[in-house]
Amino acid sequence: MSAAPPFAGVIGWPVGHSRSPALFRFWLDRHRLAGGYGAFAAPPEGLEAALVGARALGFAGLNVTLPHKEAALRLADRASARARRVGAANTLAFTRDGIEADVTDGFGFLENLRQARPGWTAGSGPALLLGAGGAARAAAAALLDDGAPELRVANRTRARAEALAEALDENGRVRVVPWEEAESAMEGAAVLVNATSLGMAGQPSFTLRLDAASPGAVATDLVYAPLETPFLKAAARRGLVTVDGLGMLLHQARPGFERWFGVSPRVDEALRRAVLAA
Ligand code: NAP
Repeated sequence: MSAAPPFAGVIGWPVGHSRSPALFRFWLDRHRLAGGYGAFAAPPEGLEAALVGARALGFAGLNVTLPHKEAALRLADRASARARRVGAANTLAFTRDGIEADVTDGFGFLENLRQARPGWTAGSGPALLLGAGGAARAAAAALLDDGAPELRVANRTRARAEALAEALDENGRVRVVPWEEAESAMEGAAVLVNATSLGMAGQPSFTLRLDAASPGAVATDLVYAPLETPFLKAAARRGLVTVDGLGMLLHQARPGFERWFGVSPRVDEALRRAVLAA
């Protein structure tokens, strides 16, 4: 008897908004692969049972979205160094020996910038990170690992920025900036990252001024709905190079797809269109 085709999915609470099914099914179709990918809603108190059940049913793995990213890491039997460092998991692989956790948001963040700006590296200068939530933490770890000489972090709730610095700063490169000074901290930054939810559909707008930012610096928003955010519009007006957040979502899915379905998928315009249309 031949083995069943691999099956994977995304688990969250809620999960209906997830673009992952459209993304994975596009790649499955493109590569003419047998296999499937579904979306599964599980409340926090049901996460452990859901993971045990999915593994018992022979799932190859699961992507994990809000609010389960930290709990998924705790429930895993093994975790990559980057998942332990960030304190969260978004990609689980079910193996004979248990659950392996990884976090690929930082990888997706860097790959998106590199695809949009070939040759780009965080080593080119100071970075300013706005926000200190889960997404900001992944971006911060990626920027530091990619050689950012200085990482300025400004968050509305200062204690959260301090916790991020405490968790990630190994050699004094992270500087916590008061939220009130975020605008002046843009001066001299080679890359500006909006990792707050400001500007996302249904959230307050992004209203910081970018007058101190250096024209030619890179500005990237993690918010991708809408695609052209208030932050990116302001950055374009100021002469910055803008990179939208959709690519991060697409690139972060690559390691899971490769692991579960055995093919290294590509992020391109056709994929972007398919996911936006979904
Ligand atoms: P989170 O953990 O809830 O963090 C939200 C962040 O936004 C915090 O830093 C929060 O500051 C800040 N914030 C919220 N309202 C604010 C306001 N009115 N003024 C100033 N700051 C405010 O969320 P997350 O998971 O990190 O996600 C953040 C954004 O990134 C979301 O829009 C999400 O869609 C996006 N994202 C994108 C990707 C991608 O692949 N492109 C991946 C993950 C997330 P406080 O700490 O003060 O509350």
